[in-house]
Amino acid sequence: METKVAILNEQKLDKNIIEEAAQVIKKGGVVVFPTETVYGLGANALDEEAVKKIFVAKGRPQDNPLIIHVGDFNISPYVKTVPTVAKEIIKRYWPGPITLILEKSELVPMMTSAKLSTVGIRMPANDIAIELIRAAGAPIAAPSANISGRPSPTDVESCIEDLNGKVDYILGGENSEVGLESTIVDCTVNPICILRPGAITVEMLRELDENVYIDPSVLTKPQEDFKPKAPGMKYRHYAPKAPVKIINGDIEKTIAKINEIVLNYIEHGKKVGVIATDETKERYNNDVVISLGSRANLSQIGKNLFKVLRSFDTMNIDVILCEGFNEQDFGTAIMNRLKKSAGFDIIEA
Ligand code: AMP
Ligand code: MG
Repeated sequence: METKVAILNEQKLDKNIIEEAAQVIKKGGVVVFPTETVYGLGANALDEEAVKKIFVAKGRPQDNPLIIHVGDFNISPYVKTVPTVAKEIIKRYWPGPITLILEKSELVPMMTSAKLSTVGIRMPANDIAIELIRAAGAPIAAPSANISGRPSPTDVESCIEDLNGKVDYILGGENSEVGLESTIVDCTVNPICILRPGAITVEMLRELDENVYIDPSVLTKPQEDFKPKAPGMKYRHYAPKAPVKIINGDIEKTIAKINEIVLNYIEHGKKVGVIATDETKERYNNDVVISLGSRANLSQIGKNLFKVLRSFDTMNIDVILCEGFNEQDFGTAIMNRLKKSAGFDIIEA
């Protein structure tokens, strides 16, 4: 398939290009577009055949539900009811990086919700995304624009790398501002429950529902007989080619432990990649050390994480060792993605 690529200036949107991409969506095609979280791979959420193409292009298992992206606040056509707490979340955080799980209406096809009676829905805070959805005249179902299992793309180059020739259109914009996928909060249960941590944190949501909690499988390795609330929670995710190991604990001990493990690998002829931070990067005796940014700036760490994970794929690295982060505020989302990319391979320093 021929893929058209167009890069837009987010400050001065070319409406003709948006219109052209919207036509592709209207005709049942698939379009890659930027959002503030990560780049999305979109199709008309209400068109079963179009949605099927998303699963094919990504190689995504069909039991993994999609999030639908809306361009205005009127979500009533797509859901049965909107509980009060969901209304409050929408009022405070939309457009923004938080997805609500709600009971779905008949309008949303089973293909989109992966046969669940619920649907994930959010309004992205990105002008290209919003204009595209509005011009398409329908909500857009969109998972991240990567081949299933790989780190999510936060720049257009990564989308092209994964999906050129597999989608109709790639709309490029700036690099994703948040860099990690949206927070997912199940609003069909009381208290509400976080199924995926993101930039809207549990600490922030506590102001709206003091009993909100994070699903335990988000932070700890799922048991063998684990039955996830959403099928997507069971897949290994965000994985670069080389295995990832997280070294966690006191930062001085972490540095010592990583250097010890590096030495051991080098003695066995292996090439190691270390993921460090600005504060620690000079402390490693290893050829390949990449910093995620400053520990004092978790937003920056989250924004850079997937790009750094992807960067090892072209370096012939045998194993990646990464420093851990405190699981609070945005650190919870960072550690969730890291743990999944490491398949929960965590070494205590
Ligand atoms: P992504 O790969 O970023 O598109 O993530 C979509 C994820 O959202 C899925 O893997 C699920 O974990 C979650 N999700 C989407 N729809 C639902 C739903 N109806 N109920 C529960 N989780 C959902
Ligand atoms: Mg994804």
